[in-house]
Amino acid sequence: MIIVLLGAPGAGKGTLATAIKDQLDIHHISTGDLIRAEIKGGTAIGLEIKRFVESGGLVPDEVVTRMIEGKVSATASDGKGYMFDGFPRTSAQAVDLDKVLAKNKLAIDVALYMEASLDVVLLRLTGRRVCRACGALYHLKNMPPKKAGICDKCGGEIYQRTDDNEETIKKRMTVYNESTKPIVDHYKAQGKLQTVNADTGAEHVKAAFLKILAVSHVKKA
Ligand code: ADP
Ligand code: ZN
Repeated sequence: MIIVLLGAPGAGKGTLATAIKDQLDIHHISTGDLIRAEIKGGTAIGLEIKRFVESGGLVPDEVVTRMIEGKVSATASDGKGYMFDGFPRTSAQAVDLDKVLAKNKLAIDVALYMEASLDVVLLRLTGRRVCRACGALYHLKNMPPKKAGICDKCGGEIYQRTDDNEETIKKRMTVYNESTKPIVDHYKAQGKLQTVNADTGAEHVKAAFLKILAVSHVKKA
């Protein structure tokens, strides 16, 4: 099963992917996580792309596509499938992803569009906190850790991403509307688009998504 998660920053792509990847036994590939790991590691790529992320812009397509290509070709033979989170983010990346998958004799099954309203995503992003060690996601109000500032899962330090400030969030929303939203049509044209209302709680979104997957399995059988 190959799934693409689409939606604005704060729509809940990472939360859904984390909640579901073990159940589906699927690789969760988040370009945001891959990019932050390069930056944290101070690699040559990390140094080159830091400024794009911190300003709320996009990392150049070819850099991100190369990361994805590396991940897919290293794991394609295990047959586990993928959940892409935060990729593709431009029309060029959507075309590239189809090509990378085709090279590995794979294709996308479902593109899930997580439709969320602006005031909801703004509240989620400004309250979002992340574990520095394991990447677990929290929210000050909706999903607080048991002990303030400490990750429930690994005891790591919880921090606020530098790009989760109001000014950068505004820029990311503009970039989303201009570059990423048009991809919805790419998957609609392929007959792969499914939509869920992502304004509701994480459990509800997860249940709605599992229902969609069950139905599309029946159709394929
Ligand atoms: P969110 O979904 O909250 O925006 P992500 O972790 O997916 O957060 O992305 C954070 C930042 O990483 C983006 O604002 C962008 O700069 C960069 N990034 C992530 N994925 C991509 C991608 N596919 N193409 C270009 N830049 C990306
Ligand atoms: Zn942690």
